[in-house]
Amino acid sequence: MSAEIVVIGAGVIGLSCAIKLQANFTVTIVAKDFPAPFETIDPIAQINYTSPWGGAHNRWVPPSPSGENAREHAFALTTWKHMRALRDVNPESGITFMKGIEYLEAPSIEYTSLTEARAKELNMEGFRLLQPGEFPDDRVKWGCVYDTWCVNPMVYCCFLLRKFTMGGGRIRKRELRDVAEVFALPPEDFGLGRVDAVVNASGYGIGADPNMYVTKGQTCLVGDPCPATLTRQNADGSWTFSVPRGYDGGTVIGGTKEVDDWGTRPSEEVREKLLGDFRETWPGVPAGRFYTVIADIVGRRPTRKGGPRIEGEAIKDGHFVMHAYGLGGRGYELSWGVAEEVAKRVEDHFA
Ligand SMILES: Cc1cc2nc3c(=O)[nH]c(=O)nc-3n(C[C@H](O)[C@H](O)[C@H](O)COP(=O)(O)OP(=O)(O)OC[C@H]3O[C@@H](n4cnc5c(N)ncnc54)[C@H](O)[C@@H]3O)c2cc1C
Repeated sequence: MSAEIVVIGAGVIGLSCAIKLQANFTVTIVAKDFPAPFETIDPIAQINYTSPWGGAHNRWVPPSPSGENAREHAFALTTWKHMRALRDVNPESGITFMKGIEYLEAPSIEYTSLTEARAKELNMEGFRLLQPGEFPDDRVKWGCVYDTWCVNPMVYCCFLLRKFTMGGGRIRKRELRDVAEVFALPPEDFGLGRVDAVVNASGYGIGADPNMYVTKGQTCLVGDPCPATLTRQNADGSWTFSVPRGYDGGTVIGGTKEVDDWGTRPSEEVREKLLGDFRETWPGVPAGRFYTVIADIVGRRPTRKGGPRIEGEAIKDGHFVMHAYGLGGRGYELSWGVAEEVAKRVEDHFA
């Protein structure tokens, strides 16, 4: 199709959408921030660029018996399959497959109703319920293990950016005040010299969406590797997790989920609690040989009441904008499902 699509955003969502759209359109990414080595990302100036600060791993959130979460589960499944195919073809892509282990102290119905047969129907490969004898302590009421993936975020996003540009995609570093501003950028910014549609993958979203809020997350990057990704839900509502980043990227130990907290500074006290909780839960931590603290991480999950906005809109002058923002704490794990949906809706628009 001879149409030019501009994707606003070079986080995991913008990059994935841009690659999918590239199969049928001329695509330019316009963004303020682009992927770069993790060590070069500024923790204050770039705190609103969430993708560097994610773990990032896939943690299944199964649909409830009444079907809630079914769309997200389908997105996660599409992403899981895509990640495995990418890992096989592009071993440099920053993706590592490993076991995912879960220990829940207060499991909700989505989990208590999750049998091994149901997990098979939901295509959760390698799923096995853990027996109480396999729990780390008696506060854990439910546990499971499955096959999952983790990425080293900036190795992965740099890989996506390279794949996009090697596929003929163009990039422009610009900061926008409004989605409509894209249509006023100089024509020479774009491959076809015009803009036919826009994908708004700006993370928190450009413009005033009253449903958006941030969920601050503090984690700690340690230099040590870890053989699995582990998630523990504590009865007080807090979480303990590890996300091995692979590719010599250490392991992220987390993490907090602080709604509407715009704070930028990590707390040492929180760090010590995160590391202490993880040590208690993960019996494999060898005393004195783990936790080379590299950095405290503070990020802002772009969260949205009612879930991510994946929706087309005709704005001023009839311009078509496909929104894809508000992915909260699940941007990586839903990315290829979102990208597929976005590409389909944009194709439908031009059909
Ligand atoms: C501590 C923590 C742990 C996490 N762990 C996981 C995990 O394990 N698994 C998982 O799936 N997710 C995880 N996440 C969430 C995940 O990181 C986010 O959902 C994801 O990065 C969001 O990607 P995005 O592309 O939507 O937004 P972003 O990465 O924020 O990218 C937004 C893009 O839009 C551009 N942009 C924004 N405004 C403008 C503007 N005005 N003009 C021009 N460009 C603009 C930015 O420059 C950037 O390029 C975690 C997040 C945190 C903070």
